Amino acid sequence: MRFITYNAKNYRDIEYMKYLPEEVKREIDIVSSVIPFKTNNYVVDYLIDWENFRDDPIYVLNFPNKDMLTENQYERVEGVLSGDHSKLDINRVINKIRLEMNPHPAQQMTNVPVLDGEKLEGSQHKYRDIILFFPSQGQTCHAHCTFCFRWPQFIKDLDLKFSMREIEKVVEYIKKNESINEILFTGGDPMVMSPAELSKYIDVLLDTAPSNLTNIRFGSKSLAYWPFTFLPEFSDEAEDMLRLFRRIVEKGKHLSFMAHFNHPVELDNEIVEQAIFNIRQTGAEIRTQAPILNHINNDSGAWARMWKMQIELGLVPYYMFVERETGPYDYFQIPLAEVYQTYQEAIRESGSFAKTLTGPVMSADKGKVHIMGVADNPVTGEKYFIMQYVRHRDYRQTFRPFFMKYDTQATWVDQLTEVVPEEMTVAAGNKQR
Ligand SMILES: *Cc1c(COP(=O)(O)O)cnc(C)c1O
Ligand code: SF4
Repeated sequence: MRFITYNAKNYRDIEYMKYLPEEVKREIDIVSSVIPFKTNNYVVDYLIDWENFRDDPIYVLNFPNKDMLTENQYERVEGVLSGDHSKLDINRVINKIRLEMNPHPAQQMTNVPVLDGEKLEGSQHKYRDIILFFPSQGQTCHAHCTFCFRWPQFIKDLDLKFSMREIEKVVEYIKKNESINEILFTGGDPMVMSPAELSKYIDVLLDTAPSNLTNIRFGSKSLAYWPFTFLPEFSDEAEDMLRLFRRIVEKGKHLSFMAHFNHPVELDNEIVEQAIFNIRQTGAEIRTQAPILNHINNDSGAWARMWKMQIELGLVPYYMFVERETGPYDYFQIPLAEVYQTYQEAIRESGSFAKTLTGPVMSADKGKVHIMGVADNPVTGEKYFIMQYVRHRDYRQTFRPFFMKYDTQATWVDQLTEVVPEEMTVAAGNKQR
């Protein structure tokens, strides 16, 4: 199967574009100058329902639309694109808007490990047992999600990319830091690499294998965006990729493929189901994670269906994330109270094997904050969110429940106030200060 990518330059070649009014294409032209836009022939042919494209979750996932910018931002881009402006002026306006969109949530660029005084720029070590590795060829994806918090990595001229070629130094670092037992290959998507490219990294890991490194993870959206990667009938390289997975497993490593699925439609065809089967045959585990997003999957039925399908296919639900405050987050954000309710409705429908899921979770500055529940205080009549860090920079702070004042509007943990235990015993209105 030939991989055809569509972007701002050539998307009008997509056959289904005939269903789209010219004004919608104009919107795509304008908004895609700010938000990275990329899709491909699998997504377009298999996943999007073109007759209802406006409300189609996968259309919204890939195609930029007007509401992803503020009115003011939209008008500024439209203005500078339609007049007789120099490339320099156009870029100035576009870059300014990008910087308004919080390109570095939760200090993405920090936690860079240091080996013998040298920064290992293509990796991140935030939690004691796990290191993230960003192979330089994996800093793109088979398509780009409009909500993506990694979006600055896809825009070359902002020069905010991390990447690194040398895995050897990372191996040295792992050897020196015995608490590390896991390496996570992430991006972008490491599965955009050919098996030959990926092998160069994996071979170093397997050959020089530090004994403390027992787990290898790939974070990938390829099962949703290009499942042919794992289908020898369609791809010359698929057998090599599967063989690489088998090699990792045969070395005794726990290989976990962290698959990103946003909607049940991404699991609902024979191609992806065969790809999942083939990966599982290698001995790799497939765990799943995704953010909950307005306009895409803000619906407990969609999550319940998705988890049910995942479990039937042998996948292990792992994380439901809250959308980070970056990119067009006004468009995708959902208040935490609503997120929790949707989660609760969905998980209740999902049965025993869905209990492996942790959610909803915010990946924040100090760590991953899990919303465990909403509780009523019978004494004060107040409501709380019960939360815990399932990951914290300081691991001793993990799995310790705390209370935050309930709020129907807040969309992120930093908008909430922590409740101190003394306040819990004083009825509201009787507080003495
Ligand atoms: C999420 C994350 C991890 C992996 O955490 P798990 O809870 O094990 O999935 C590792 N490093 C960073 C920086 C992360 O954000
Ligand atoms: S697949 Fe992941 S990294 Fe790639 S665009 Fe989507 S959210 Fe971002």
